[in-house]
Amino acid sequence: MKLNKKGLLVVISGPSGVGKSTVRQALFSMKGHKLSYSVSMTTREPRETESNGIDYYFVNQDEFKRRIAEDMFLEYAEFVGQYYGTPLDKVEELLDQGREVVLEIETEGALQVRSKMPEAILIFIVPPTKDALYQRLRSRGTEDDYQLEKRILKANKEFKLAHKYDYIVVNDDVHNAADRILAIIRAEHAKTSRSIHSYLDILEEDHA
Ligand code: 5GP
Repeated sequence: MKLNKKGLLVVISGPSGVGKSTVRQALFSMKGHKLSYSVSMTTREPRETESNGIDYYFVNQDEFKRRIAEDMFLEYAEFVGQYYGTPLDKVEELLDQGREVVLEIETEGALQVRSKMPEAILIFIVPPTKDALYQRLRSRGTEDDYQLEKRILKANKEFKLAHKYDYIVVNDDVHNAADRILAIIRAEHAKTSRSIHSYLDILEEDHA
């Protein structure tokens, strides 16, 4: 059997306010998987409940731009006036160890991942209705009216990119959505293109 098989990169994406982080947390609380979460870097201010190194690595604009110049991101995007990006070194390290790595990012970054790592699985989370998304954005109370309006406009643009993804998962219920993502990951592992090499290795094992 091949030992150092490269891990799977799973991108959870979709419009702001759709509940990506709640779904991701539900996914990580489930049993029977070995997923690793890639903590992003951002220039936005931490929210009251957030901690550095757990929710995000919080840095200033100069630091972020220095890292862009040094090609330190797998992907990055400007989202309603702030930078967000995936540090490349950690993701590569985990994938080289054969781990399954989950990114939770907006659409522009997800499409950058598609072109840099075509083997990544792109999952688009959608709300059951658009109204559900607007209500969610308003009720979480983390943005002022100006920021909220910008996020709603951005969400409407992001909706139109769903066709570029491999899978669409409706977040009608957070646990159902997490279940579906786990089912997708399992099915991806069984895909012939991913598993044929291990299978051929088994056939070649010499038991004489
Ligand atoms: P928030 O400010 O609500 O935490 O995040 C705003 C948006 O940025 C969300 O859609 C979130 O998924 C996305 N985001 C978080 N981390 C990253 C990242 O590393 N790269 C990109 N492109 N988007 C990210």
